[in-house]
Amino acid sequence: MNKLLHYLNPIAHLGEQKYSTFFPLIVTIASAVLVELYVNFVLRNPEAVGLFAIFIFVALIIYFSFREGIKGGLITSTVTILYYLYIIYSQHYTGERLRSGLETTLIFAVTYFLVAGIIGWLKQKIDSLIEREANEKRRLQTIIQQLPVGIIITDNKGIVVEVNKKVESILGINIPLNFQIGSKVLLQSDINDKPVTCNNSPIMYVLTHGKSIVSKEYRVVRKDNKEIYTQVSASPIHNKDGKIIAAAEIITDVTEQKELEKRKDDFVNMASHELKTPITSMKLYIDLLMKYLKNYNDATSIKILDNIKNQTNKLQKLVNDLLDVSRLQTGKLSFSKENFKLDELIAEVIELLKGSSKHNIIFRNTNSITISADRFRIYQVITNLITNAIKYSPYTSDIIIKLKKQKGEVLISVMDFGIGVAKDQQKKIFERLYQVNDDKEKTFPGFGMGLYIAKEIIKRHKGRIWVESEKGKGSTFYVSLPTD
Ligand code: ADP
Repeated sequence: MNKLLHYLNPIAHLGEQKYSTFFPLIVTIASAVLVELYVNFVLRNPEAVGLFAIFIFVALIIYFSFREGIKGGLITSTVTILYYLYIIYSQHYTGERLRSGLETTLIFAVTYFLVAGIIGWLKQKIDSLIEREANEKRRLQTIIQQLPVGIIITDNKGIVVEVNKKVESILGINIPLNFQIGSKVLLQSDINDKPVTCNNSPIMYVLTHGKSIVSKEYRVVRKDNKEIYTQVSASPIHNKDGKIIAAAEIITDVTEQKELEKRKDDFVNMASHELKTPITSMKLYIDLLMKYLKNYNDATSIKILDNIKNQTNKLQKLVNDLLDVSRLQTGKLSFSKENFKLDELIAEVIELLKGSSKHNIIFRNTNSITISADRFRIYQVITNLITNAIKYSPYTSDIIIKLKKQKGEVLISVMDFGIGVAKDQQKKIFERLYQVNDDKEKTFPGFGMGLYIAKEIIKRHKGRIWVESEKGKGSTFYVSLPTD
């Protein structure tokens, strides 16, 4: 019975794009025969045929044009019109009656064909739209399944409507369709070990806040107790009126990358530790040798040794930077606060750098400012900013350093008139190992560690560091440190 109802239900066949000729033809002819038998043998009144002929056949035309498209509608209309002509013929219409009968049949024919055409066309249009959408969905599903990253798509309530197999292989659990995101914690904590609750899982977050999450790292402890690291991006999907209708999440397994990075960091840490001691000894021996040579007044040897000392200092700076970077990575860079005069510290750095640079370093300050911070680390930051100002302004001389006390903070600025930093690079230069990559820039030696270390030091002091610059005109680096 259910099968029969399903077969007869025209809505159940939407999108199928299969149109039968036989079914409407047989049903319409059978209906005509049944109507004939009924009026002739049950009602015994052939004249009563008119009412049946209109209602039953109009219903059939609508039904078949909606079920079988234009062709079904036209077949039903044609059989109906032929039946009307048969009625005129079998009831021996003559004269005026025959004329008006034929006229009415003609009007019916035009109306029926028109109705069948319009409904059939609409039905076929709907079918092709449904088919197109289904194809689109299939294409999307195939792409989603093939992707090397995990993908979850949910509706606006966080119920999974699409998910690929990669998600299971990354997270170690099967997420079925209709799974409610947030009903179970999938990602245990973010990279700072902040636990992920049901409400702040990436999908629920983007659905409630309407904001995207970009490449955020999460730690996952799988059922098999394997700890993995994932990088997750999630974003809400809006309709054309801006209403959130769905959310998509992309999960990438970055465990291997992390392990590799850790091995690399461990190696750098170990290598720089191992290098530190011999460099310190080398410097001691150089100083000893220098003292010794001075007794002999051997100017050439002293000059050579001076060069060796300079190169050793550079090497030591590099090793110290490497150590700092790896300590920052592992959170092992310690700070010890003390009260000191910032203006004196800046003057000290300038004094030291003036000796090795031809630049005109100007310090504009009127106040004595005492702050509480790690003196050695702030010294390191100021040295780095002024060294950079010198390094990246090879054709101009002035470098202006200002120190200002303003509400709740002290502001240090280091201004040069050198090569400048393009707008799109101004945030990136503070990233680890980032160097501006254009031909001109490549001629400057460096490793892209200084500003990263400076940024991290200032961050740990709850301060800010940034740059304002125009390419080709110079840069001003700012450091703001809280005084409260
Ligand atoms: P390094 O100077 O060793 O390459 P830094 O981290 O100190 O590393 O600087 C990162 C990048 O920022 C540099 O490679 C350079 O491109 C850019 N930069 C830093 N300071 C300046 C400056 N004063 N003027 C122009 N570019 C600068």
